[in-house]
Amino acid sequence: MMLRAIFFLLAGFAIVAVAWLLATIPGHIVASIGAFTIETSTPVAILMLFALLVVILIVLRVARGVLGMPRAGAGWRRRHRLALGERTVTRVLVALAAGEQGTARKEAQRARHLLGDSPQTLLLVAEAGRLGGREDEAEEAFRALTKQKDAEFLGLRGLLRQAVDRHDWPEALVIAKQAEAAHPGTVWLRQQRAELALQTENWAEALELAGADPRRTTYYVAAADAEPDPPRALSYAKQAWKQDPAFPPAAIAYASRLRAAGQERRAQACIVDAWKRAPHPDLGAFALALEPDKLARVQSAKRLVAANPTHPESRLLLARAALDAGLTGEARHQVEIADGEGMRQRRFCLLLAQIEEQERGDTESGRLAQRDALRRAATAEPDPHWQCTSCHREHAVWHPKCDTCGSVGTVQWLNSARTSGLPVIAG
Ligand SMILES: [Zn+2]
Repeated sequence: MMLRAIFFLLAGFAIVAVAWLLATIPGHIVASIGAFTIETSTPVAILMLFALLVVILIVLRVARGVLGMPRAGAGWRRRHRLALGERTVTRVLVALAAGEQGTARKEAQRARHLLGDSPQTLLLVAEAGRLGGREDEAEEAFRALTKQKDAEFLGLRGLLRQAVDRHDWPEALVIAKQAEAAHPGTVWLRQQRAELALQTENWAEALELAGADPRRTTYYVAAADAEPDPPRALSYAKQAWKQDPAFPPAAIAYASRLRAAGQERRAQACIVDAWKRAPHPDLGAFALALEPDKLARVQSAKRLVAANPTHPESRLLLARAALDAGLTGEARHQVEIADGEGMRQRRFCLLLAQIEEQERGDTESGRLAQRDALRRAATAEPDPHWQCTSCHREHAVWHPKCDTCGSVGTVQWLNSARTSGLPVIAG
């Protein structure tokens, strides 16, 4: 307060001093413009000059304000538009989160109109289009995104998702390659490419991209089957077997390549090992395939099951081989033990009917025993079988990919025997 008072006092003194100095300047000024002559004292002339300067400054300022008005107006309109656009974007996000398709699409188009083709608005238009089932709108927005330098990957990602959804695998592969070039090394893209490799049955690439996938064994078996070069097929099959030596298709894949390469002993050893881990009918069929002599087949079957002789699958194999060789007593012995252990599957009942037929022939007691066995078969437990865990379709043989639903690694050996203690073998 005090300082202010002193300042005003000093300013007053200064003005009075200047006025007094001006007033003391002697002389006068005469100005003639045409017929007019202005004559005044010097102090008044100086004051008039000062006043004229002030007037000119004011006029200039007003003129600048008037000329700059349209620009200021445009700025205001732009700010207003941006604010409106931002609020619209928020409304789109809320509508997307709430699953309100109509609102999301309408507001997204409005945001695009207000804010132009920015990556944000294009992405919102695309997502709103997808939510509303308008894939054409979404595709248009994704394509516009791919033309923007920084947002190219976003556009490609959207197009890739669309191609995958409509199962257009060749198109998806092309887009995935473009996306990889636009933004290399993405984990998401790697997973997508792995999935594409599975869908296009490019097993070698699936193995390269899949990383630690529990279905690797399946990929290796499938890659071996698809590989025309025998040494490379053997290498894939060996990998499959190493991954899971208890998985029958893996053991058979490896053993059959060994057999084809003339290494029958190693092939048999591989099958014997697999039988020890998890007996399976396909392993038995493979082990006996090259043996034409029926009695020799019985011996081969005995060698195969030696390490796991009490397993129901071992008893069944022995019984069938014995029956084929005419050794009905041995066959009956094995089936009866399995029966005593609670085995109630259909295949055992049918085998017993065959044994009865072969042993007793067309006699009264034979017909009765056969009828009895067949009756039991009708109400027996289902036999184990290959089945897709995704669509539940049964398959006669194992496949890496279910041809009904397209799932990979879902065909599994299902054994519903209640008492057999057989493990369910994962596919
Ligand atoms: Zn399926």
